[in-house]
Formats: sequence, C-alpha cells, structure tokens
Amino acid sequence: MISESSLPLGPLPGTRYPDERIESFDKSFPRQGNAGIERIATGFRWAEGPVYFRDGGYLLWSDIPNNRIMRWLEDDGHVSEFRRGANYANGNTRDLEGRLISCEHDARRVTRTELDGTITILIDRFEGRLLNAPNDVVVASDGAIWFTDPGYGIDGDYEGHKASPELPTNVYRLDPHSGEVRVVADDFVRPNGLAFSPDGTRLYVVDSGLTHGGPSHIRSFEVSGGRLRNGRVFAEDFAPGITDGLRVDIDGNVWCSMGWADPREDGVRCYSPEGVLLGKIHLPESCANLCFGGRKRNRLFMTASTSVYALYVDTKGAMLP
Ligand code: MG
Repeated sequence: MISESSLPLGPLPGTRYPDERIESFDKSFPRQGNAGIERIATGFRWAEGPVYFRDGGYLLWSDIPNNRIMRWLEDDGHVSEFRRGANYANGNTRDLEGRLISCEHDARRVTRTELDGTITILIDRFEGRLLNAPNDVVVASDGAIWFTDPGYGIDGDYEGHKASPELPTNVYRLDPHSGEVRVVADDFVRPNGLAFSPDGTRLYVVDSGLTHGGPSHIRSFEVSGGRLRNGRVFAEDFAPGITDGLRVDIDGNVWCSMGWADPREDGVRCYSPEGVLLGKIHLPESCANLCFGGRKRNRLFMTASTSVYALYVDTKGAMLP
C-alpha cells in the first residue's frame, strides 16, 4: 500500500540548496546548510506521534485512522507495520528505560510496551471515571509520565470511537512507580503536545482549543515538585491554524508543528526560549507532530498528514526522544 502512493520519496521535487522551504527570521535559527527536506514515508491517513529509537535505528509513528503504529528503518528506509491494531494510538514517547509509552484513543488509556513486547496499562481512568482519549505524552527526568487528555479521539469514529467524555480536558502527571496520578492543569480547552525544557524546569503545553472555540497557542509553566505554576502564554500567533505537537532542542528552542489553515504556513516553527520566532520549515501538508532522532539526534522527523518528512538541523534534541 505504501509503495503505491503517487508521492515520491526522497528530496522534495525541485530541491536546491539552500532549501527555500526553510525560512530564517533570525541568525540563531539552527538550520543546517546543504540540507533539504526529504519525504521518507508516505501513504498514511493521519500520521502522528513520532518517536525515535536510536538503539534500534528506527522511527515509530502512529497512523491513527488506520489503527496502526508504523516503523521506518533508518538503514534502508524500509517501512512496515510495527503494530496492527494499536487501539488508534496517537502520541508516543519513551521512558527512562527506553520503553515505548503510547496514548491510545480507542482504549482511552496510556500504555507501556515492555521490553518483551507485552503491554502494560498505566492508566485508563481517573477517580473512577474513564479518561477521554489521551493525546500526547512526555516522560520527565524523574520518570513521571505527563500526558494530555483533550478527547479528540472520542469526538467521532474516525480516530477512535464516538463517546461522551466523563472527565474535563485535563493535563495529568502519573508516577508509574507509586501509581499516584494528579491533575496538573485543568484550564485548557484542548491540551495537546507537551515537552520539557532541557533542564526540566519548564513545561510547554499546546492548547489546540481553537477547534472547539478556544485558543490556539502554547503555554509555558514552571515545574516544581511535580506541579505547575506561573503559567503564561509562550507563543500565540497560530490562528487561524493550530499547532499540535512540539519538542525542545538542547539550547531550549521550541519546535512545534503547524497546519490546518493557510497552506503557506504548513510545517514546523522554531521559537527561542524567550518565545521569539526564529524560523519556519515549510511542508506540503499540515504537520501534526515532530521529534528529534538520527544517530546524532540532529535529524528532525515530522509527521504531516499522509507523509513523514525528515530534515537535518544544526542542533540536537533535548533529553530522551
Ligand atoms: Mg497531538
């Protein structure tokens, strides 16, 4: 199915260095000279949740409406199904032991795939009520699992199954050792992607609530004792489009996805830790999420609608993928 797509793999057509699809607004934008955008896989319905496994040399991502998790081998570009019947998984990450952590829309839970391949349910309800549909997840340096529960996966039958929410659209922190779970933010319309600053003292969380009459921005918080405080809007110039997923590099720059409105804005944006827009990566499709990877952690992988794109950049991803 994948090879039948009409979209070619490899460098985007007409690529010439410097790649004009990469737009700098500040000289500190860590673009890599003589590097262009490559389409590395295509043929999906809705690509999300990229996570890179350096130990295995492969990238995983979710193809949500096709109810599967895909795998791309960096050595030869081979693409195959990592998991068919993935409970309409969305966001993925790894814990401190390298295990896959996944948000599952259809099963309305967050799971961990053990090193022997068995799946452990980490959480599927809060105070006795079912989670909505966990969307994205990140693991803190203390091993705690932070995830968002906006409920997109129960809005309809395309990315999960239609159901009524039993809980508000919260952001949670789960201690996988004690099982303790707490709401760390309850004032998002649709909390979505999230990522920590390199030193773990700040958390960035997307609110893609524009889809439901809310804002379209990224907020940042101070993190202390497993709680959030002093929340403020970090970047807000996304409407009428939205951002969905984000990652942080070793210098604290925030890289976020962009799409769903003006096609000229489809792709990825990079903001300084102070919230200054440094540059844009223009893609041919709306982009949902991204992650750093590659052997040197300097390759940006972007899941964008029907395809996955990659670009070498002049920085590295912070912390684990
Ligand atoms: Mg998301």
